[in-house]
Amino acid sequence: MLGLVKPQPVEEPLHPPARNVRASQGHVEIVDVSIEFGTGDKAHVAVSETSVDVPPGEFVCILGPSGCGKSTLLNTIAGYVQPTTGAAMVDGEVVAGPGPDRGMVFQQYSLFPWKTVKENVAFGPNILGRGRTASNSTAQTFIEMVGLAKFANRYPAELSGGMQQRVGIARALANYPRVLLMDEPFGALDSQTRHMMQENLLKIWSEFGITVLFVTHDIDEAVFLGDRVLVMSASPGRIIADIRVDLPRPRSLDLAVDERFMRLKRLCHEKIKAESLRAFEQQNA
Ligand code: ADP
Ligand code: MG
Repeated sequence: MLGLVKPQPVEEPLHPPARNVRASQGHVEIVDVSIEFGTGDKAHVAVSETSVDVPPGEFVCILGPSGCGKSTLLNTIAGYVQPTTGAAMVDGEVVAGPGPDRGMVFQQYSLFPWKTVKENVAFGPNILGRGRTASNSTAQTFIEMVGLAKFANRYPAELSGGMQQRVGIARALANYPRVLLMDEPFGALDSQTRHMMQENLLKIWSEFGITVLFVTHDIDEAVFLGDRVLVMSASPGRIIADIRVDLPRPRSLDLAVDERFMRLKRLCHEKIKAESLRAFEQQNA
């Protein structure tokens, strides 16, 4: 069996971008959003009366127990789910459906396996009619930004999970979205790779300057990454705490032993503990 295991390429450190590119930063508002699935006896409120204001350029983490409605809330901003009441807005415009102004990164890498890294990243700009040369040049810029220049002509199956997810991030950014929506993007990675990806993401965010909404159920991840952590209650999901993370940037893994980091984690933990218990009891009722 061992002979069949493919050697994994070694993770490359993040390189600075070759060209100075900046994002346009979207202002995200969620106004009195409730989301109900099904009707009658089968009706289920996934998100209940939630309002959030995310200023341009902010990095906001949405933290909550499994099944509390994090993905559903993110999907209303992405335009995949229409709220039952209220509205999601980007730069004052009500979100009516999916669009390239909102980039999405999921836990599953969802790359085209038959396309190279470069072709995957150039796909969005190509579809948007930017032309082949411009699309390839944009792809190259973002491939360099995520530190994969040497792998531009490889296929996804030739890359490690962390590298595939970097391609996913490059692909989302290549459309120059106003907002980056990330749904547990590092959930499938081993802890070493996850930590490296978190640091990489912060570097990309500080260089590119985009508004980020990042969903996670991991307290360490939320506090390490965010300017703010929004803690959601168990189903039906509501935001029960809005915690400002006043830790200095740039952040590195040295924060793990920082007293302020631990205090913020404890605060999130306290908020989420009762909710996790309630979610567990609901699921086992
Ligand atoms: P989280 O991302 O926090 O784990 P989700 O947003 O995926 O939670 O789901 C919240 C709740 O809404 C869950 O109870 C889930 O089963 C339900 N739900 C999510 N999407 C749908 C759907 N399309 N139809 C019916 N129920 C759904
Ligand atoms: Mg989810």
